[in-house]
Amino acid sequence: MTGIGTRTAATLLELRAWLGEHVSIRGEGNWDQVRLAWNRVSDQRPAVVVQPSSAEEVVAALSFARGAGMQVAVQATGHGAGAALGNLDGQVLLQMSRMRQVVVDPGRRRAQVEAGATWEEVAAAAAPHGLAGLGGSSPNVGVAGFVLGGGVGWLSRRYGLSANAVAGFEAVLPDGRVVRADRDTEPDLYWAVRGGGGAFAVITRLDIDLVPLESAYGGFMMWPVERAADVLHAWLEWTRGASEDATTSARIMQFPPIPHVPEPLRGRSFAVIDGAILGPEVDARRAIEPIRALGPVTDTFTTIPAPALNGIHLDPEDPVPAIHDGFVLSRFNHDALDSLLSVAPPIARSALLATEVRHCGGALSRPTFGQGAVGTIAGDYTVMGVGMARSPEMAQAVEASLDALSQATLPWRAERQFPNFAGRPRPAEQFFTAADLARLRRVRATYDPDQVLHSNRPLGSRGDEADYPPS
Ligand SMILES: Cc1cc2nc3c(=O)[nH]c(=O)nc-3n(C[C@H](O)[C@H](O)[C@H](O)COP(=O)(O)OP(=O)(O)OC[C@H]3O[C@@H](n4cnc5c(N)ncnc54)[C@H](O)[C@@H]3O)c2cc1C
Repeated sequence: MTGIGTRTAATLLELRAWLGEHVSIRGEGNWDQVRLAWNRVSDQRPAVVVQPSSAEEVVAALSFARGAGMQVAVQATGHGAGAALGNLDGQVLLQMSRMRQVVVDPGRRRAQVEAGATWEEVAAAAAPHGLAGLGGSSPNVGVAGFVLGGGVGWLSRRYGLSANAVAGFEAVLPDGRVVRADRDTEPDLYWAVRGGGGAFAVITRLDIDLVPLESAYGGFMMWPVERAADVLHAWLEWTRGASEDATTSARIMQFPPIPHVPEPLRGRSFAVIDGAILGPEVDARRAIEPIRALGPVTDTFTTIPAPALNGIHLDPEDPVPAIHDGFVLSRFNHDALDSLLSVAPPIARSALLATEVRHCGGALSRPTFGQGAVGTIAGDYTVMGVGMARSPEMAQAVEASLDALSQATLPWRAERQFPNFAGRPRPAEQFFTAADLARLRRVRATYDPDQVLHSNRPLGSRGDEADYPPS
């Protein structure tokens, strides 16, 4: 048993007496299943996995960890696992997936969401009331980790970052106190968590604002990859005049030659444009017409119910070993796009399954009163690459392709990067202004002075090198 000495065994016994099978010790029982993150690139091997069902059980788990001198990593789904999180050896993993209740208050257009819930669960609870949450491109990403890193999705150019829609939350502090944080109560904690990550407290419940939305005009269009340059340049031009009701992305996708990819796509590559347009269908159709006029071989754009929005991007739902990285760009123009295209098919070989540009701007670039540590995206476009690492050789090839993408877009890199899209370790200075980073470190020193919590967004600091880069 790594990290658990006899000094703490009694406390562990108490924890087990209370939570039973929901406390899993390394190498025993169901530990080998519950330790796994959605992102299988991490072979995370915590000393103990605790799956709490209430804030009280989180308090107990933190009390055990403090007594044992162990760090605590919190996960809803493990979509944020990977190199940025680092390894969990000797730590307690608080796995929140038993806490996933979602209660919608239609009058206030607000949902109370437990910290293990996913965006598809929020969508399912909100839809009967004609409401929707500001989720992202994947149905089963967790609400908690998503908003802690900012949160961008298909409604973002109209409504802004999801972190701005967090009205308040309940959390357990590393010292075991249960607190409520919002604009008036624990305002520094409220500010820090909305973009600053999981380095301050264990969130147990979030209050998130919903927006009125029953349906949107959304889907994807595909062209043979040989058309990538003309389609993506046309899309870039189109985005310049697109209204804030339209949030879209353009990608080069290489579908792997594996059985569960549908036959027409298997082993083939495409240029893809996808996204959603809000408002009356007739206007949305008119808006997307210039893209449709490029003659896609597949076109699924149609009016879809709001919960279907998170299926548009074809993100994998089953666990996969993924390595990704993404960058915020300022002044993204046709030269920048040519540079990006020069490291992707059909021009270059790439180990990335997707090389993507997302159109941001609109409400994503407007600061809002009372916003958190990340309230905007500091450029009108982001680029991202993702590949699968099923072997060390594949991992090496994906890393090399991500390096190439990073280099190709470096001249257009924005000053501040976006936490949720950064899949590989980066200094905290890249995400926050100097003043905000200093404030985040002060907030951490107040709420987690012993650095009990192990976040996938290390804040680093002088004299705190152990925190960055993650081991
Ligand atoms: C397939 C895929 C699609 C994605 N699409 C988008 C997208 O469209 N838009 C976007 O903005 N991002 C997107 N992301 C990035 C995603 O938002 C981040 O990886 C996010 O951290 C995942 O949150 P999670 O809760 O599911 O993951 P987890 O790995 O469970 O959590 C991530 C981190 O959040 C913190 N955390 C989680 N729960 C708690 C808690 N209860 N208390 C304290 N800290 C906590 C921890 O530090 C943890 O390491 C995507 C990622 C993937 C893999």
